[in-house]
Amino acid sequence: MPKINIDSSYGVIIIQDMNAVHVDERYAQIYGYNSAKELLTSIDSFLDLLPAENHQIATQNYHDIVNGTLYPRGHTFVNIDRNGREFTVFSVDHLIEWHGRPALQVTVIDLSALVEANKRIREKDLMYKRLITQSGQGIMVHREFKPLMVNQACVKHLHADSIEQVMSLSSLLTLIPETVQQQAKQHYQDIVNGVAVGSNSVVENICFDGIHRFFNIYDNLIEWDGEPAVQVVMEDVTEKVQLEKELAFKASHDGLTHLLNRSAVQEWLQKHIEISDQLTCVLLDIDNFKLVNDTHGHHNGDLVIQALAEIIRDAFADHSGAVGRWGGEEFIAFLPSANEQGALQTAEVIRSRFAERHFNDSTHTFSVSVSIGLAESSDCRMINDVENLIKLTDKRLYIAKSQGKNTICSEG
Ligand code: GH3
Ligand code: MG
Ligand code: MG
Repeated sequence: MPKINIDSSYGVIIIQDMNAVHVDERYAQIYGYNSAKELLTSIDSFLDLLPAENHQIATQNYHDIVNGTLYPRGHTFVNIDRNGREFTVFSVDHLIEWHGRPALQVTVIDLSALVEANKRIREKDLMYKRLITQSGQGIMVHREFKPLMVNQACVKHLHADSIEQVMSLSSLLTLIPETVQQQAKQHYQDIVNGVAVGSNSVVENICFDGIHRFFNIYDNLIEWDGEPAVQVVMEDVTEKVQLEKELAFKASHDGLTHLLNRSAVQEWLQKHIEISDQLTCVLLDIDNFKLVNDTHGHHNGDLVIQALAEIIRDAFADHSGAVGRWGGEEFIAFLPSANEQGALQTAEVIRSRFAERHFNDSTHTFSVSVSIGLAESSDCRMINDVENLIKLTDKRLYIAKSQGKNTICSEG
């Protein structure tokens, strides 16, 4: 609870035989009188200052303290002054002597300011809750992933049926893919510990319809019903994330074959040679492709390129290397180890599958072949020299062409 500074003065009354025998000016003011004198002349008994329902307990209290059966204590009670103002006081009793006989001295502190401040806090709290409920932005509040509040916009974002359906979740972690749950828990701790203040991040959620969507979330540590909790403001950015993914894919992949483009292959090479100097390179070039275009048309030529790309992708699917379109009808593959024998087998699979493939134009069925050059890094004089490895592989591809095409060369 926030600290509230109350700056209240206090009033004093002395009661003997349930009569008010002395009051100070401040006491009189708290009880709605202009002066102590006015108060003392207006009442017959101390009880006249209290609501009727408090008379019995006040009398009992007086006698018990004066007789020594009850230690003087502090009380909080609500009073109504003679002008009808409701006010709350904190009172402290003291047993004293007044003109040689026991009496009760009561000091009262007007707590109205504190009560008012508490009321304002409650009102602010209510206003905040109303604001969240009506917000068009998805907002939820949770503590250790147990939902404490969700608004309608959040229900819509999560494709849930109702607020109740979201609130009935024992943990919001069920909406988070297992692979990132640990990260989400850590993030929660960071927010609670003040390490990540007002942070925003894009997260993946499994919505109630089972579909994975991406949300930009802003989370903040707040106080909810007097305890710390995390408020999450969410916005659906699935389309944006997908668009970014598509753009990233387009930037690194060839549009016709969806294999890596030349620059992406070079990027892969840069990263690979930092960790290993072992590499096998395979270069593939369609035979007489100019003729294919001339005879069967450019469109059919494109289909031939796509067909070979598919065969190459399949054949290298089990390898963790890079497969790309190197140029027009030329492809390249890098295997991340010196495995000439394995590469040779794969190259043979590609060569034979492609040669067996039949294509159709409007009038003819035709087939096409591919020549393949192959080399590994240990064949080069200088290890770690990708430039030379590609040159050597190209030279072997040229040899394959000169040997009559539709063949593989891994020597020379
Ligand atoms: P070789 O057997 O010696 O390789 O002869 P080739 O005719 O295949 O060799 P060349 O490099 O002379 O011809 C390649 C042709 O590929 C030339 C070019 O018009 C064509 N080409 C390049 N890119 C594309 C493409 O995206 N689609 C189509 N249809 N043709 C393309
Ligand atoms: Mg060529
Ligand atoms: Mg060619």
